[in-house]
Amino acid sequence: MKQTLKRIKELLFLVTRDNFKYFNRVKDPDVVLSKLFKELLPYLDRKRKSWLNRVLKVLENYKGLPEKRKKELLKELHTVFTLKFLPEEIERAREREIPRERIISKREKIERKKTYPIEAFFQEVEKVKGIDKRRLNRLKKLGIERIIDGIYYLPFRYEDRTTVTPMAYLKPNGEFLVKGKVVNVSELQTSKKKKRILKVVLYDRTGSVTLLFLQERVLNYYKSLFKKVKELGREVLAFGTVKRKTSGFEIVHPEVEILDPHKGKLEKLGTILPVYHCAEGIKQTTVRKDIHFLIKKVLPYFPEYLPKEILKKYNFPEAHEAFWRVHFPQDEDVEELQNFKSPSQKRVIFDELFLFQLAIGLYKQKVKKEKGISFPIDEGLIEEFKKVLPFKLTGAQEKVLREIVNDMKSPEPMNRLVQGDVGSGKTVVSAAAAFFAARSGYQTAVMAPTEILANQHFKKFKEFLNPYGIRVGLLTGSLSKKQKETMYKAIKEGYFQVVVGTHALIQEGVEFKNLGLVVIDEQHRFGVKQRAELKKKGRMPDVLVMTATPIPRTLAMTAYGDLDVSVIDELPAGRKPIETKIVFEDERRSLVEFLRKELSKGNRVYIVYPLIEESEKLELKAATEMFHYWNEKLKPYPVGLLHGRMKQEEKDSVMEKFKRGEFSVLVSTTVIEVGVDVPEATVMVIEHAERFGLAQLHQLRGRVGRGDRKSYCFLVTSRGIGEDSVKRLKVLESTNDGFKIAEADFLFRGPGEIFGTRQSGLGDFKVADLRRDYEVLKLARKAAEELVSKNPELEGLDNLRKLLSLRFGKKFDLVGVG
Ligand code: ADP
Ligand code: MG
Repeated sequence: MKQTLKRIKELLFLVTRDNFKYFNRVKDPDVVLSKLFKELLPYLDRKRKSWLNRVLKVLENYKGLPEKRKKELLKELHTVFTLKFLPEEIERAREREIPRERIISKREKIERKKTYPIEAFFQEVEKVKGIDKRRLNRLKKLGIERIIDGIYYLPFRYEDRTTVTPMAYLKPNGEFLVKGKVVNVSELQTSKKKKRILKVVLYDRTGSVTLLFLQERVLNYYKSLFKKVKELGREVLAFGTVKRKTSGFEIVHPEVEILDPHKGKLEKLGTILPVYHCAEGIKQTTVRKDIHFLIKKVLPYFPEYLPKEILKKYNFPEAHEAFWRVHFPQDEDVEELQNFKSPSQKRVIFDELFLFQLAIGLYKQKVKKEKGISFPIDEGLIEEFKKVLPFKLTGAQEKVLREIVNDMKSPEPMNRLVQGDVGSGKTVVSAAAAFFAARSGYQTAVMAPTEILANQHFKKFKEFLNPYGIRVGLLTGSLSKKQKETMYKAIKEGYFQVVVGTHALIQEGVEFKNLGLVVIDEQHRFGVKQRAELKKKGRMPDVLVMTATPIPRTLAMTAYGDLDVSVIDELPAGRKPIETKIVFEDERRSLVEFLRKELSKGNRVYIVYPLIEESEKLELKAATEMFHYWNEKLKPYPVGLLHGRMKQEEKDSVMEKFKRGEFSVLVSTTVIEVGVDVPEATVMVIEHAERFGLAQLHQLRGRVGRGDRKSYCFLVTSRGIGEDSVKRLKVLESTNDGFKIAEADFLFRGPGEIFGTRQSGLGDFKVADLRRDYEVLKLARKAAEELVSKNPELEGLDNLRKLLSLRFGKKFDLVGVG
């Protein structure tokens, strides 16, 4: 092996050296290399072997490659061989590797019958012939109402009963399949209860395992069986959880099967068992039987619905085959299967994501076809707005503003999401859009999720727009009935060109004179529905959604898949990164000292703690306790208190005092998350930081660092929170980039956590896991986009069209599509 390796490395060195100086002198490196690689193969461990096999495939087409690719390939080979093919390492890897033998029993084969159209599978499970009441009830408990639900009720894990592990490689507490000959059969009695125990020892040359049978009922049967097997010298397969005892490995009540050379087929072993989620009171074996019963009845009739080109392009099995193999795996690569990467699983995951992306794509297209408003915006108007601004727009703001202007000018309705980190300056950009709308004679509605935020937007929009004589109004739930009525009237008559508000904006009584632009500050709190409701207040207004929490690309593609996305990925100049540090409880003293030092410089401090429970009493108690604690510690600096149970006026007055400096410290619940700009605030202390999501912590941190002084953020937590939580918080220490943080939050906590469970309702998938299946998502999105642009009517794809409308018809109003 060493010799072959040496020759390979020498050859690769020669062709690549001195920037391929001798490239043309070496004749047919592919032929020589292929020969050497094949010699090397038997000496490699599994990982290297499969890599090299792939390389061999590539080399088959070497001659057809352009020179550039050839060189790249050789260069890569050279690097890999130098770094990863050291003889000692190869030997070590081989030693550590478990020799694999797979025993596969006959496949459960699908017998393809005639196919039924897809809608047949949207019928109730009751319609399946031969299904009894009890089974039906059990399926319902699993949430399986329609046949398709059963097909989509996929295993979340697989138990491998096909791979034989040599006994020397067993590990305690794992489930293993072993194969060996019977060397001993004996019966014991427990000393206390006089119960009989059967002990059978299996041996496979690498070691031994003891099988134990304790049930009286089966004891005699197994005893005579194993005695006979021992006489005949037959091999036995045993599967179960391996325990380590002083006497060696043992398996209690294994599943066993005798390998009979005359009878090829195995009954229990040699299969990969799917494991399904169970409902309360239903056993795994029963769930498996029920699902398999259903699958066997219906899948043979299941039609294909994906376009042929897609199946071919990605080498996917057909639908019935794919679902069958996911429910009845047999000879698949176990590792692939367990990582949800088998061809059938990929197809099934692809299906789910593709259908969703297709639904979104068609919906977007449908919206685009509708005639929206074409705002007459020219350069003069843009300049007019920019001239009055007290600052110059950043490059990113300029870019996004252009995108918005293009959308607004076009007669297609705008549906755009503007993402931008805290303080990146989204508000100005949306104010510009409102300005253009007003100058074109249209009204703008700006909807925010909370009153505080609505108030803040109201102030900002007034600041930006009043200089142009544009009237901005505020409509929130806390207005009196009379005030509301006055507002309604003024909105309807078009007195206000811009109306900022909360949910109050989508109440029935609200009517606009001519709503042309809808701005929604999302903060993940509105769904597609609310967006649509506000839109209905006008005739095809343009829609601009803003979000301050950067959304990982993965999620943007799904949760916001129906929107075009713009990103403000640059902060206004002069912002200094905020220094962030985790502080453990036992380091509090130095934190207090630090705060006093900052305060003595005239800087201000936020101290935030999480809502402990949604109980008024508890919250009040927590708030007051915190307040007293900090008041004591930071004397004589004045401390203010702000919490959710205070009236709006109280909140405003506390905030105002903090802004003016009458309070140097503000102790608060998360209500300041969307608070007012206070440039003198330089320190943000977050108590029980582990209870917040990263995105939220990042938002809170964004409250400081708004002036030109150096700012700090302290994440206070206890040492007992566990490694993962510390790791999570460390992300904040390491970066100020909201996108990186969002990506990390997503990986740590999953999409549900970021959005909250009730979130937009988009992107909750049954099979796909966006963290695991990002690559598939990209493929699915691309395929869906291609199909929408090539065949928007889905001509010749009846099943696909029907499937879409059956699954997404309501959600996307797709019934009329296609
Ligand atoms: P966001 O809504 O994205 O959190 P804002 O629009 O509230 O950010 O902007 C944050 C602060 O930065 C505001 O005080 C705003 O006036 C200011 N600002 C916005 N754009 C710029 C810019 N290009 N240059 C300097 N300051 C800016
Ligand atoms: Mg438009």
